[in-house]
Amino acid sequence: LFVDHPLGPEQTVPLERDQAHYLFGVMRLKPGDHVLLFDGQSGEWLAEVAQAGKRAGELHCLHQTKPLHLPPDLWLLFAPIKKARTDFIVEKAAEMGAARILPVQTDFTNSERVRADRLQKHAVEAAEQCGGTFVPKVEEMERLDRLISGWPQDRNLLFCDEARVGDRLMIPDATSAPWAILIGPEGGFSDAERKRLRNMPQTHVLSLGPRILRADTAAVAALTLWQSALGD
Ligand code: SAM
Repeated sequence: LFVDHPLGPEQTVPLERDQAHYLFGVMRLKPGDHVLLFDGQSGEWLAEVAQAGKRAGELHCLHQTKPLHLPPDLWLLFAPIKKARTDFIVEKAAEMGAARILPVQTDFTNSERVRADRLQKHAVEAAEQCGGTFVPKVEEMERLDRLISGWPQDRNLLFCDEARVGDRLMIPDATSAPWAILIGPEGGFSDAERKRLRNMPQTHVLSLGPRILRADTAAVAALTLWQSALGD
């Protein structure tokens, strides 16, 4: 269970209403029962139920069970699509070890706004289900051109470009710098965006094979390729 509270030996951890409902209403835990906790900063801890109520409760931290495992410094930039498929992308990015998730508004993005707080909850649930000790941060939506203007000099950009269908995957040799993966919207990238992205020295263009994939499939495929070639 993820808790937004620092963990440590002898720490008392207050529970939020929905956490108390889940642990005591759904999982039927009682005082004295054990729970595994993580706070995203200090690994995983074994805790004991100290107080169990319908809407509140308290856990008591016992000892650490796993050290913190930070994922590689990988960002996923993606243009939000329909709600369920955007949720899917965030969930899979969290499972597959992205450290930061950035919804971007591109020329052909159909979503005007996304609720980063709602998406953050999906990231928490995904991290919980795969036994992680870290939750990626979901940022507020930002315009792609603004991100490109301030793009960090030392961060590689893996630009998944549907116009490069059929090319082979080329992972560059210089892999010490951190990476970001960019996935476009249903309508793909505009010519102007494609030109700007290709002109950036940090850009490496990636083809995901001979067919145009749906954006959610493309995100999973790109994360898999990156993890296979460069992940730890
Ligand atoms: N219309 C479909 C949909 O509803 O999702 C296709 C969307 S495709 C244009 C969305 C994004 O996935 C692209 O902008 C690109 O980032 C990535 N993508 C899909 N197929 C790709 C491929 N074969 N090579 C590289 N990127 C690809």
